[in-house]
Amino acid sequence: MPCSPPKLRRTHYSKDIKPELDGKEVVVCGWVERVRDLGGLVFVILRDMEGRVQVTFPKRSGGLYEKAKELGKEYVVAVRGTVKFMENAPGGAEIIPEELVILNVAASPLPLDPSGKTDANLDTRLDNRVLDLRRPKVNAIFRLRHNVLRFIRSFLIDEGFTEVQTPKIIASATEGGAELFPISYYEREAFLSQSAQLYKEQLSSVFEKVFEIGPCYRAEESRTVRHLSEVYVVDVEVAFADAEDVMNLLERLIYYVLRKVADECRRELSVLGRKLEVQEPPFPRYTYTEILGVLEERGIPIAWGEDISTPAYRELGEAIKGFYFITEWPTKGKPFYIKPRENRPEVCEAFDLMYEWIELASGGTRIHEKELLIKRLKEQGLAPSSFDFHLKTFDWGMPPHAGWGLGLDRLIMVITGVENIRECVFYPRDRDRLTP
Ligand code: ATP
Ligand code: MG
Repeated sequence: MPCSPPKLRRTHYSKDIKPELDGKEVVVCGWVERVRDLGGLVFVILRDMEGRVQVTFPKRSGGLYEKAKELGKEYVVAVRGTVKFMENAPGGAEIIPEELVILNVAASPLPLDPSGKTDANLDTRLDNRVLDLRRPKVNAIFRLRHNVLRFIRSFLIDEGFTEVQTPKIIASATEGGAELFPISYYEREAFLSQSAQLYKEQLSSVFEKVFEIGPCYRAEESRTVRHLSEVYVVDVEVAFADAEDVMNLLERLIYYVLRKVADECRRELSVLGRKLEVQEPPFPRYTYTEILGVLEERGIPIAWGEDISTPAYRELGEAIKGFYFITEWPTKGKPFYIKPRENRPEVCEAFDLMYEWIELASGGTRIHEKELLIKRLKEQGLAPSSFDFHLKTFDWGMPPHAGWGLGLDRLIMVITGVENIRECVFYPRDRDRLTP
């Protein structure tokens, strides 16, 4: 079938086709979602970024009627026609066409049903992601993602933060090498950044309140529903602040985002059949030691100082609902830049923000004294010399500071209620998947 060049310019989106426009000429553009041929009438449901509109081709329209019968799913078309009040049509009005331009055709059959009526497994969906993204529920997840990002930015900018960008190609590990992806960089080896940590700390000594929304790369060994190799993290660093200050900022941010989503994203939430709980701050705080107590009571003993395993986190998610913080972590399990308690150096001023069993964010008070930072690097088996570029900034007036990194993809999981992080990332990257 020949593809005509676009001759028609869109005048309206589907959502604007309302009974008030009865009798008016409009041009709509979009994708053919459904064609129903009822003998004397062909109904075409056209989808654009705003929704759906019905175009009805009566037999008496002759050539147009014949052309409409040939339309296939996901054909791209432009239609010029007259709006007609029609109670049963989506939006209460339909379009009676005068001109139909086929801008492009689509394969038949398609590897995935974009109407969302027949389900497919996640791998098939991800293999054909562009079609998958056209399905209403999937589409709603990504519209929510877009809006959540918008709300996060507006909250932080209103709080006086400056948005920064830090390099994603780096020379050495931020926190040790295990999860780093090496890359070939001209004649040398370099790495993909696993965190904005060191750079955001440096920038807090200039701009005081900084945030970045950017990718981090982690060569995760395991295949889980909450880990990817490429993730987006909302990173924040604040000068003259401690852990308590930035926990307060984080819970206010979460509350703001939830409230905005509940108010402004009703359509997306209803497509997902989701009722959002807007949890008010302050969020409960449990120390690491208290968490071990909760787990012990539930038959999962963990020796003090050990990591909390995934099954233990699952159990914790049964015991504690909603958002909460875990504070006062053992120093040895946290990164070198976290400040140990002055009177009790075996615990440190680190915290995690949790939603039931999922860790959403990690943060803490940072060390701002160079000597202590060097001592902690050595204790963690890292070579201070590979951090020279960073350590020297501590000679130039480094204020006390604190911050956190919030996993954006995990936050979207929690807001949309999906079980697998792959559902809320456009093109997820994991151990097995590098395309599309
Ligand atoms: P986890 O223990 O769950 O693997 P982490 O403690 O290694 O996470 P951090 O270094 O604290 O991760 O990173 C900050 C935040 O970024 C995490 O709280 C999480 O929300 C998100 N994040 C980190 N790694 C991943 C990943 N591989 N996939 C998805 N999100 C991640
Ligand atoms: Mg963490």
